[in-house]
Amino acid sequence: NKRVYTFGNGKAEGRSDMKNLLGGKGANLAEMNLIGVPVPAGFTITTDTCTEYNEMGREKMVGLLRSEVKEAMKKVEATMNMEFGSKDNPLLVSVRSGARVSMPGMMDTVLNLGMNDESVLAIAKKAGNDRFAWDSYRRFVQMYGDVVLGMKPESKEDIDPFEQIMDEVKEAKGVENDTDLDVDDLKDLVVKFKAAVKKVTGHDFPVDPWEQLWGAVAAVFDSWMNPRAIYYRQINQIPAEWGTAVNVQAMVFGNMGDNSGTGVAFTRDAATGENIFNGEYLINAQGEDVVAGVRTPQQITKEGSLRWAKLAKVSEEDRATKFPSLEEAMPLAYAELFDVQEKLENYFKDMQDLEFTIQDGKLWMLQTRNGKRTAAAMVKIAMDMLREGMIDEKTAVLRQEPNKLDELLHPVFDMDAMVKANVLATGLPASPGAATGQLVFHADEAGKFPVTILARIETSPEDLEGMDIARGILTARGGMTSHAAVVARGMGKCCVSGAGECKIDAKARTLAAGGMTFKEGDWISLNGSTGDIYEGKIATKDPELSGDFGEIMELADKFRKIDVRTNAETERDAKVAREFGAQGIGLCRTEHMFFEGERLVRMREMILSDDEAGRRIALDKLLPIQRQDFKDVLNTMIGFPVTIRLLDPPLHEFVPHEKENQESMAKEMGVSVDVIKKKVEDLHEFNPMLGHRGCRLGNTYPEITEMQARAILEAALELKAEGKPTFPEIMIPLVGTVKELKMQEKIVRDIADQVFKEKGDKVDYMVGTMIEIPRAALTADEIAEVAQFFSFGTNDLTQMTFGYSRDDAGKFLPVYLKQGILKNDPFQVLDQEGVGQLVHTGIERGRKTNPILKVGICGEHGGEPSSVEFCVKAGMNYVSCSPFRVPIARLAAAQASL
Ligand code: PEP
Ligand code: MG
Repeated sequence: NKRVYTFGNGKAEGRSDMKNLLGGKGANLAEMNLIGVPVPAGFTITTDTCTEYNEMGREKMVGLLRSEVKEAMKKVEATMNMEFGSKDNPLLVSVRSGARVSMPGMMDTVLNLGMNDESVLAIAKKAGNDRFAWDSYRRFVQMYGDVVLGMKPESKEDIDPFEQIMDEVKEAKGVENDTDLDVDDLKDLVVKFKAAVKKVTGHDFPVDPWEQLWGAVAAVFDSWMNPRAIYYRQINQIPAEWGTAVNVQAMVFGNMGDNSGTGVAFTRDAATGENIFNGEYLINAQGEDVVAGVRTPQQITKEGSLRWAKLAKVSEEDRATKFPSLEEAMPLAYAELFDVQEKLENYFKDMQDLEFTIQDGKLWMLQTRNGKRTAAAMVKIAMDMLREGMIDEKTAVLRQEPNKLDELLHPVFDMDAMVKANVLATGLPASPGAATGQLVFHADEAGKFPVTILARIETSPEDLEGMDIARGILTARGGMTSHAAVVARGMGKCCVSGAGECKIDAKARTLAAGGMTFKEGDWISLNGSTGDIYEGKIATKDPELSGDFGEIMELADKFRKIDVRTNAETERDAKVAREFGAQGIGLCRTEHMFFEGERLVRMREMILSDDEAGRRIALDKLLPIQRQDFKDVLNTMIGFPVTIRLLDPPLHEFVPHEKENQESMAKEMGVSVDVIKKKVEDLHEFNPMLGHRGCRLGNTYPEITEMQARAILEAALELKAEGKPTFPEIMIPLVGTVKELKMQEKIVRDIADQVFKEKGDKVDYMVGTMIEIPRAALTADEIAEVAQFFSFGTNDLTQMTFGYSRDDAGKFLPVYLKQGILKNDPFQVLDQEGVGQLVHTGIERGRKTNPILKVGICGEHGGEPSSVEFCVKAGMNYVSCSPFRVPIARLAAAQASL
C-alpha cells in the first residue's frame, strides 16, 4: 500500500489524472515535472492516508509512514543537493494541504519548516543575508505556532499572540512596517515568539526538524476536520471520506532580495475571459504576503501595469520606478514564466491559475490548476478555445456551470461599488439580480419614486402591480416558493424573501435592519442572487447577452434530448421565455390572472356569492377577460404546446382582508360590510394548503371549470381562425384519486363538445393532470388511463412528501441545513432519494397503462441543474421553469445527455 509519491527533476511517480489519490495540487505538481516545468522537488502523502489517520490517530500513522517518508526525503535531498535536518546545509520544506477539489483558504499551510537555532545560521551564511534568514525563522515560529500548535485565535476579534508581540516590538522601536525591523529585532522576535509558545502550550518550541514535520503533517490532516472545512464541504457537497493529501516540498524563497519575488498569474483574464496573460507579484516577498495584502502587489505584464497605473492614478514615473511589472523588473524570469504559462494552458487545455516563486532570478512553479472565473469568462474562454481548436464542442458545453449563467441574465452590481457596500441583513436569494432603489412599503405606492424597492412583511396577490413597478422586492417572511419569490422569478425581478432580521413596519413606513432604521424614500440595495441586503445606493450594470452566449446555447441544443418549456402566465413573461429559447409553456397558473384590477373584483364577486346562480353571474363577466388572457398567452407560443392549469389556490387568498377593501367590495356587491366580513371568516381554513383548493374547487364548483375550459378553447379557436395553430393542454391540479380527475375531465370534454358545436370548428387539445400529491404518484397507473399527460408539481409533492409547509419551512430549514440534517433545501434541489422515488414510480406506473403518456415537471426544480439531470434520466419529455432559468435548463439538459 503505497502512501507517498515523489516528484522532482523531471520525474514523478504521480500524474494529473490521479487527483483522487494525490489531491489536485499534488497531481498537478507531478504532471508539471513530467512536462518539463521547473518545480521544486517534493512528495505527496495520499488522501487515503488522511482517512487512515482519522481512524487510527497520529502515532500509528507516523509508524506506517516513517520509512516511506524518509526514503522520499532522501530523493528530495539528492535533487536539491541539501539535507533535511543538517546543521551546515539544511533543506527547508513547505507543508501544504491539497484535496481533490480546491477548497480555497479552508485548510492549513506551514512554510520554512526545518528551521531552528542552528539551521538559521547556516542559511544566513549560505544566502549571505542575515535578515532574510532571521525573517524566515520568525515567520516559521509564528506559522508553526498558529497552525500546528493551535495558537491561532478562533475568532477574528481575538488577538493572535504573535501579532501582539510584533506590534509591541514595532511600537517600542517606533516603526510601522515589518520591513523596518533589523536583524537584531528579528532575533529578539524569535526569542519572544518561542517564549509565547512555551507560555501558551506548556512545551518548548520543537527544535527537531523531524518532530516539526510530523507535527505539520498531522496538522494538515487535522485541518480536514476543522469547522471551516466541514462547513465548506457541506455547502459544496464534498464528502468527508475524500480526505486531503499533504504536499511536502523543498522551499524556494521569494524573499531572498530584490532579485527574488513571488506571485500568482492567470493564463487568461478570469473576469472577462480575454486571452491575456495577467497576474500580480511582489518583489522580495513570501507567498502569504501577496494574499495578506500588506503591500501593493505589482502587475506581471507591462501592459497590465500600464492599465493598473491609469486606474490607480499612479504617474508613469512612479509606476516605472516603484511598481514596475515583472516583465520590466526581471525580464528573463518573465520570459520563462510566459513560456511556462503557454505550455501549461496548452497541456491542460483550460485557463490556468498559477503560483510561482523566483529565487535569485530562477523561476519555480508551485501550483497550477484550472482557474475560477466569472460567468462571462466561462462562456468566452470555452468558445475561444473551441475556435482555437483546443477543445471540442462537447467539452465546451460541459465546461459551463449552468447556475452561473444566471449572472449573465440579470443586472449585476458594479464590482467596485460592491467592495465598499455595507450588508445590513441576509434573506433568501429568492430571485436573482441586483436592484437598488428608494424604499416603499405599500404596493400601491411603488411608483412614488422613479426607482423603488418594495419592502413587505409578505406579499399578497393584491401587490402584483406594485411588484411589477418596483425594481426589487424584499419580504421579511416567506420561503423560496412564497408568493413574492415565485412571482418575482417569473418577472425576472430581483427578490430577497424571508429576511427575518428585517423588521418592517408598514404603518410607520420603516425598516429596521443591521442596527439602522430606514424610512420611506431611503435608498437600499438587494442582491437576489445571494440574499444580501445593503445600505444605500449601489451602482448596477445591465446584462450583456453576447454572441458567445448565444453560440454556447446553440451548441447545448445540439446535444439536448428533451424540451425546455417555461412557467408563464403573462404575455410579457412568455415573450421573454421565447427569447431565451422556451419551447412552449409547461405551466400557466391561471390564478395569477385574477390578481389585479377588474379581474380581482369579479373573482371576489364570484367567491363571495351565496349560490351557484350568483357565481355564474360573476363567471360570465370573467369569461371574456379570461378568453383574452388566454389568447394573449397562446399567441406568444404559436406552434408550441401551452399547458394551462385550472384554478388552484384556496379561495380565501382572493378575498379582501383589510377593512378598506372589504368596504369597497360591499359597495360593489350592494351588501353590508358585515356580510362580506362574515363570508371572509367562513373561508378561513386551518390548513389552507391541504384544504379547499386544486381540483377540489372545480369538483365542488364545476361552473369554475366550465368557464375556464370554455375560455381556453374559444381563445384557441379564435387564433385558429387567424391562421395560428395552438396546442392547449388543460391541466387539472392537485389530483389524488382517479375519480377526482375523471369528474373534471368530463366537465372539460363536455364543454369542448359544446364549444366546438357552437363554433362549427375544432382544435386539438389534451386533458392531463399535475402529479403533486403522493397518492397520485402511487396510483399513477389508474390516473394515466384518464390523463393524456402528467406534469410533476414538485413544489407540492415535496411539501407533502416531507410534510413541510412551503410557507413555514423558513422557520426550521436554515437550522436543518446548518446542522446537516438536510443536505439541501428540498424546495430548491429535488430530493432524489425520497421525492425522486415518487417521480420514478409515477412515470413507470403511468406509462404502463398509457405508453404514450407525455411527462414533464413544472415545480421550481425544473430550472435547477441537478434536478434537470434527474428529470432527463427519469425519462421525462420536458422540463418547465421560470423564464430566466430557461437557458440554465437548456444547458443542464444538454449536459445530462452527454
Ligand atoms: C407545484 O406544486 O409544484 C406547482 C408547480 O404548483 P404550485 O407551485 O402552483 O402549487
Ligand atoms: Mg402545486
